[in-house]
Amino acid sequence: MKIIIGAGCVGLSIAYKLLEKYKSAEDIIVIDKYNVPSKGTSLRNSGVLHAGLYYPKGTEKSKLCIKGGESLSKLCHDNNLPILNCGKLIVPFNRKDEENLEKLYLNAKNCGRDVQIISYKEASNIQPNIKNVNKYLWSPKTSVFQPNKVLNFFYRKLVDAGAKFLVDTVDEIDYEKLCIKTKNNNNFKYTFLFNCAGPGALKLAIKKNKLYKDLTVLPILGQYGIIPKKNYLKTNIYPVPDPNLPFLGIHITPLTDGNILIGPNAIPVFNKDVQGKERSDWISLFPNLLYHSKLFLSNSQNYRMHALNELTFFVLNKFKEETSKFLYFPDKNIAEMYMSKKNYGIRPQLYNKEKNNLVDDFMYDIDENSINIVNAVSPAFTSCLALSEKIINTLSN
Ligand SMILES: Cc1cc2nc3c(=O)[nH]c(=O)nc-3n(C[C@H](O)[C@H](O)[C@H](O)COP(=O)(O)OP(=O)(O)OC[C@H]3O[C@@H](n4cnc5c(N)ncnc54)[C@H](O)[C@@H]3O)c2cc1C
Repeated sequence: MKIIIGAGCVGLSIAYKLLEKYKSAEDIIVIDKYNVPSKGTSLRNSGVLHAGLYYPKGTEKSKLCIKGGESLSKLCHDNNLPILNCGKLIVPFNRKDEENLEKLYLNAKNCGRDVQIISYKEASNIQPNIKNVNKYLWSPKTSVFQPNKVLNFFYRKLVDAGAKFLVDTVDEIDYEKLCIKTKNNNNFKYTFLFNCAGPGALKLAIKKNKLYKDLTVLPILGQYGIIPKKNYLKTNIYPVPDPNLPFLGIHITPLTDGNILIGPNAIPVFNKDVQGKERSDWISLFPNLLYHSKLFLSNSQNYRMHALNELTFFVLNKFKEETSKFLYFPDKNIAEMYMSKKNYGIRPQLYNKEKNNLVDDFMYDIDENSINIVNAVSPAFTSCLALSEKIINTLSN
């Protein structure tokens, strides 16, 4: 029996690729703590199909994003799943941003990406009413997809092919005896185990690899605003990110239904569970408080500046201000912006306690009977089909 823990984009895309390879899903069980398909991070994100501009050449993130983006785009087109081939503009607001934009451009070119530095006139042709700055980076191959449609597509294919889905919490993996134990007292033997539990993956795998003892998951909250204005936004508009940090900054995204998504912010928080109603007592919150503070005080990876920028009680106002930096919006539309109650998500940011830094690449271990994906780092949705294919190609039969 092949067991997959986690029904997010990583778990489901692995099951889907297993189905493609073995032409049957009857020996697959997918177990998720809350919902199948997941209503966790895989549902609560920007839905941007990234073109692989940001990540240094040769990193796992770069390779998987580029290949995965092409595969996900093809999957959407081939199966009539909504996708907007709308591109992306990155907008610098000062000299420092312009320098970082140049570096971003060179990195993207080095990775073989289709990017151009363009003028205000050219940018205005792509997005009318964009603010006038010295230059813009244009990525025509960035797209927008609908995460729930992709998750449901995988799910339906798997159900039709005989896969079993179970809502239960995996409490323990016995890597010696090749079995898992669940909260509802189920014991399952496996021939191969895929630990794709997102925020829960490290905890389950901690005894597998002694390096994992140095790691923990720091929760970072990402919220979104929505402007219900159809078809005003023609493309994604992003700021130039701080290259020290794994966050891309508050951006504006045209949704496939025509409305406009604003966000996400990236606020250090203490509880990593947005789906369940787990009790969060001070004892369990304390370690996260400690690690956030350590990063803040040492200012590792420019974290202090980031945290100070993010801390505000008036998130909606902040989103309005950020949006108005990019575009001239009619006041009426800015006033109509509201906070999305369902989109907010928690980024399970992997943190190395020894090195005091945020881990910013995919991390997994694999042996003949199991794989533990302990860091399915953003943009893991864009990358999921390439990651799954890579993993499945390593299986012997
Ligand atoms: C705010 C935000 C915006 C993002 N925007 C983008 C974007 O635009 N484009 C992009 O490509 N990526 C984006 N990402 C990244 C992407 O969404 C995630 O990297 C990806 O969804 C991770 O998928 P996953 O399957 O690993 O995890 P999840 O979606 O979290 O799935 C893991 C599942 O495991 C289950 N689970 C956990 N523990 C257990 C257990 N013990 N037993 C059983 N089940 C368990 C959980 O319930 C969950 O359903 C974004 C992320 C965030 C936070």
